[in-house]
Amino acid sequence: MSNVPVAVVTGSNKGIGFAIVRALCKQFPGDVYLTARDPGRGQKAVAKLQEEGLCALFHQLDIDDLQSIRALRDFLKEKYGGLNVLVNNAGIAFKVHDTTPFAVQAEVTLKTNFFGTRNVCTELLPLVKPYGKVVNVSSMVSSSALGGCSRELQQKFRSNTITEDELVELMTKFVEDTKKSVHEKEGWPNTAYGVSKIGVTVLSRIQARMLNEKRKGDHILLNACCPGWVRTDMAGPQATKSPDEGAETPVYLALLPSDADGPHGQFLSNKTVRTW
Ligand code: NAP
Repeated sequence: MSNVPVAVVTGSNKGIGFAIVRALCKQFPGDVYLTARDPGRGQKAVAKLQEEGLCALFHQLDIDDLQSIRALRDFLKEKYGGLNVLVNNAGIAFKVHDTTPFAVQAEVTLKTNFFGTRNVCTELLPLVKPYGKVVNVSSMVSSSALGGCSRELQQKFRSNTITEDELVELMTKFVEDTKKSVHEKEGWPNTAYGVSKIGVTVLSRIQARMLNEKRKGDHILLNACCPGWVRTDMAGPQATKSPDEGAETPVYLALLPSDADGPHGQFLSNKTVRTW
């Protein structure tokens, strides 16, 4: 078994994830795994980094596919006995003018952004080694969407005692409410992407709390963040940040020094803790 530290970035064949891998290749003292659901796109991305003189390793990972997640988990367990850095970056967003019915957008978006990310955490968090770092890429849109929720929902999402099961129940209810066209009446904002990212931010707060309760001595730091508005296939060419700039906050959180006792359980943008 290798004692080399290991970092894993989900959805990193392009966009912000690719830029996070590029930065980690330069700064992380260990093996860096670029992962992609499509091995062809993943290998191509690794080759692109190689041309820049950077050495990333590849492993397939489709966060929508539990088997794929478990195959990565078993690989990490066997080869490294765990992992040191996990960046949950993979995500999807329908374009504003997409005509796909809202209920379908809600189901598809929540499936990857919330349920897929949660499944990765369920399988990989137990493997994170002492002093490890976990970064969940959320969005400022989670904050604005929270502001668009009913007072009752806001209270639940800001609660310091909400459980993961309760959060899953709420995310499932959103999808069900969109199918019945009652989501607005039920206090939800009109954004599937926004609700999925509320899920990611709140999940991060819960996971950090669980680490405090169950693995305090392991000094693992887990946070959610917004990369900013970044020029990628998702956000388009008008966005203000380059992918490398978008990677800055996630990479800052992934490389917090081992003697840091925070941030932990926070939501950050531009390397600054934001009020949730
Ligand atoms: P992007 O260019 O569209 O890249 C998204 C990445 O996620 C791609 O590599 C994509 O793979 C991958 N992905 C999607 N579904 C996946 C799945 N089921 N399993 C594994 N990988 C999957 O988007 P981006 O702008 O870099 O976004 C990265 C993250 O930042 C997302 O979580 C996004 O919500 C968040 N974010 C972005 C912005 C922005 O302005 N760009 C702002 C706030 C937050 P394929 O190539 O196979 O599709």
